Amino acid sequence: MINMLNYKFVFDLDSTITKEEILPLIAKEIGLFKEIQILTEKAMNGEENFCENFINRINMLKNIPIEKIHNIVKDIKLNEYIFKFILENKERCYIVTGNLDIIIKPILKKLNMEDKYFSCESMLKDNKIYKVTKVINKEDIVKKFDFNFIAIGDGDNDIGMLKRAHIGIAFGGSRKISKNLIENADYVIYDDKELYNFLTNLIKR
Ligand SMILES: [Mg+2]
Repeated sequence: MINMLNYKFVFDLDSTITKEEILPLIAKEIGLFKEIQILTEKAMNGEENFCENFINRINMLKNIPIEKIHNIVKDIKLNEYIFKFILENKERCYIVTGNLDIIIKPILKKLNMEDKYFSCESMLKDNKIYKVTKVINKEDIVKKFDFNFIAIGDGDNDIGMLKRAHIGIAFGGSRKISKNLIENADYVIYDDKELYNFLTNLIKR
């Protein structure tokens, strides 16, 4: 049997650790839901380049004070079982997210993961998002890892990360899993507690 003692756990953030997608929720709270949804759909349908589309969506938040965004983000519901798993195994966990560093800060703080994440990056000016300085591709991030890992995610942008993982888990605890991701996963899990038990058992193995 494989010795799992040295394996790390790499989590997607939106709809994996959180119970909801973060950007649409912010958009809803500030009255820009429709505008951002139209852009999101364009990205999902492959009508627009993902990076440009992401930057356009972030641009819509440029006039919003960062405190206001953080107030929304800090109340986003987390998957309590993943939360528990990360707190129990912090030294073995990483977050790899296509979201923006400055937006996700309150969540990283709650998880005590402020030094254990990879994300898109931005610059602040006058307490507002000034510009996106780096857009990441998750597969490019994990292929530089010098350790073996188990990856957990729900979306199309997690495919590369799951493919490179020793065990790739498509997780549908918060929303419908991307069909392409299911095809590239070793396991598909739909229940929060079941995921927790599965990951915990891997450690005990
Ligand atoms: Mg996700």
